[in-house]
Amino acid sequence: MAVKAEYLWIDGTQPTAKLRSKTKILAAGEEPGIWGFDGSSTNQAPGDKSDCVLRPVFTCPDPIRGGDNIIVLCEVELIDGSAHPTNTRAPLREVADKYADQESIFGIEQEYTFFKDGRPLGFPVGGGYPAPQGGYYCGVGADEVFGREIVEEHMDAVLAAGLHLSGINAEVMPGQWEFQIGPVAAPLVADELWVARWLLYRIAEKHGVSATLDPKPVKGDWNGAGAHTNFSTKAMREGYDAIIAGAEALGKKRQEHVDGYGAGIDERLTGLHETAPWTEYSYGVSDRGASVRIPWQVEKDGKGYIEDRRPNANVDPYVVTRLLIDTICGAAAGEK
Ligand code: ADP
Ligand code: MN
Ligand code: MN
Ligand code: MN
Repeated sequence: MAVKAEYLWIDGTQPTAKLRSKTKILAAGEEPGIWGFDGSSTNQAPGDKSDCVLRPVFTCPDPIRGGDNIIVLCEVELIDGSAHPTNTRAPLREVADKYADQESIFGIEQEYTFFKDGRPLGFPVGGGYPAPQGGYYCGVGADEVFGREIVEEHMDAVLAAGLHLSGINAEVMPGQWEFQIGPVAAPLVADELWVARWLLYRIAEKHGVSATLDPKPVKGDWNGAGAHTNFSTKAMREGYDAIIAGAEALGKKRQEHVDGYGAGIDERLTGLHETAPWTEYSYGVSDRGASVRIPWQVEKDGKGYIEDRRPNANVDPYVVTRLLIDTICGAAAGEK
């Protein structure tokens, strides 16, 4: 039987790249090989030199089509085999290899918001606003929870694809949800996050709903959407000095990190709504108003991980993981 291989890649849209995909039919037993696409339609090439190359880097079962069908996540290359300028996975691979001895792992909390007919799911049909925030986070009941059937279907799909899902929850604003991928090493955690995002879009599409990673989908007194990134090295999982050293190292590279944490970060990191202002750096135990939180359990155990609360929902996970490894492992290696 022929196999449908859904090839996924990340395009060149600015300031936030989009996922693209198309289907290649493989003969039974055929490996998914390199393929190509028209880069002039994805902001990745001029029309007269439009060919870009797709190189498979991560494959998993396709839970939507089922059977032997597969999802094939790719890196984008130029025709000479070098990484395309929009390919952020290639520089991550280099940094991850350089500091592989420190055994970094990540857990990424992906928040997102469902939209239907131009407003978040759960917002009144005639316009205006629902009851203020307070009861929606981890809520239950038709007056508080919107889109659960999509969330459950997505969770089953992510598990069937074999991704490292660690949980899901309803968020602070109606129609807003979260799933977590990890803890696993980079680039795998980021590959899985991109595939999980694609599955979310695809399943929501089936329900006539769009899922968005907009970091501030509703202006005003409503929470934004983030992608808290939890990070540890072997040394951090073994002792508290490395936890503090990691949190301190991030403070020395504040601007570089904020610049890589997703378009529109200034709109979300205002200092309100469980955020620290993007212009300042802080860390603290249990502090959801700090840039970086050390979970209480980590302080109690004297080891574990730190949570960088700044990345936006629309962050490129290849970029945030590269920055964290580079800054924290570089400092630990005495280089920065
Ligand atoms: P929060 O309380 O911030 O909502 P979550 O439970 O949503 O926390 O997410 C915590 C994340 O931290 C999970 O993705 C989990 O996999 C990850 N995590 C747990 N231990 C580690 C560790 N040692 N290193 C990195 N990430 C970790
Ligand atoms: Mn969470
Ligand atoms: Mn959350
Ligand atoms: Mn969190």
